[in-house]
Formats: sequence, C-alpha cells, structure tokens
Amino acid sequence: MLNIVLFGPPGAGKGTQAEKLISKYNLVHLSTGDIFRSNIKGKTELGNLAKSYMDKGELVPDSVTIQMLEKEVSANPTAKGFIFDGFPRTTHQAKALDEFLDSISTEVSLMLALEVPKEELIERLLLRGKESQRADDQDKSIIENRIRVYLEQTAIVASYYQSQGKHKSVNGQGSIGEITERLFQVID
Ligand code: AMP
Repeated sequence: MLNIVLFGPPGAGKGTQAEKLISKYNLVHLSTGDIFRSNIKGKTELGNLAKSYMDKGELVPDSVTIQMLEKEVSANPTAKGFIFDGFPRTTHQAKALDEFLDSISTEVSLMLALEVPKEELIERLLLRGKESQRADDQDKSIIENRIRVYLEQTAIVASYYQSQGKHKSVNGQGSIGEITERLFQVID
C-alpha cells in the first residue's frame, strides 16, 4: 500500500494537491476537515461537537478525531492506499495512526510537508474564504489562531516522521501544476 501523510499549515494547498495525487496513484483521500464539515452539514452529533472547536480555529480533541479516522480507513478495505490530509495534527494522533496501520499490516509510506510562508498563507485563506464561504476562513483572527495552533501543536509532528526517515519537505509556492510535479517527483 502507498500511504501518504500530506502535511502543512492551513492554506498550504493540501486539499488541492491531494486531488492530484489520488487520481495519479489511485488512492483514497481522507481529509479530517472535510469529514468534520460534512458532519456539520448533516447536523450529526459529531458535527455539532467538531463545530464548537472549528469555529474558534482550535483542534477537535484527539480521541474523537482518531476514532473517526480509524472508522474511515476501515470503511475502505480494498483501498490501494490512502492520502491523509489534515491528519495527524498532533504527535498523539501520529502514534495512534502508526499503531492502527500496524494492526492492519500496513504503515505510513512517507510524509510530504508543503512549505509556505505565513504571510502567503493568510492571503490564500482570506481569498478562499471569499470563494468558498468556509466559516473558519472568513475571519482574520480565526485564521491567525489556526496558524498559531499549527505552530504550537502540529509543526512538531514533522520531527516524529523525521525520526522515522519518512519526512520530505516540498516547496509549496508557485503554480498548482509546479507544486504537483514536485510532489510526483518525491513520490516516484
Ligand atoms: P482543515 O480542513 O484541515 O483545515 O481543518 C479544519 C478544522 O477541522 C481545523 O481547524 C480543526 O478544527 C479541525 N480538524 C481537522 N483535522 C483535524 C485533526 N486531525 N485534529 C483535530 N482537529 C482537526
């Protein structure tokens, strides 16, 4: 199996690039943010809980997020591999993912980290907010909080994969096509 963790701060282009990777490598795309948003839309209990954190730009608790992710992986038993987009966001989530994948006799193949400077992230997210109506992209202070949460809780996950020799840094600036080519090169 090819299991890729697509990593990077909010606005780095994970969702856009995940779409390119799934079609080339025939993988299942699991975006925890998308799954939470579809639960919010469907007014489920999980959606209500997630919304209370997402509206502030905080992380949804690990226990809830990990359980949801494991359920989604299990729901795709014939998958050739997965793109994990927006997960793991804490070291605890990264460890849980390793243990879970091990229990189904597979593992994370590599972690691709998209690197984009903070000023460009804020610009991209404000632009996306205008186009997509995503609630957490509408307000600059929520965007800044998400970047702060990324730096305080998520950035450290890179060293977890570095210690396993699986971390690959990719320049996330340039055209969508240029960035996709860089990702293809690293994977191939
Ligand atoms: P995203 O679509 O990846 O930008 O995620 C949007 C929001 O969903 C985040 O700001 C968090 O509130 C929540 N979220 C998504 N993925 C996770 C995760 N792995 N752990 C905790 N919260 C998450």
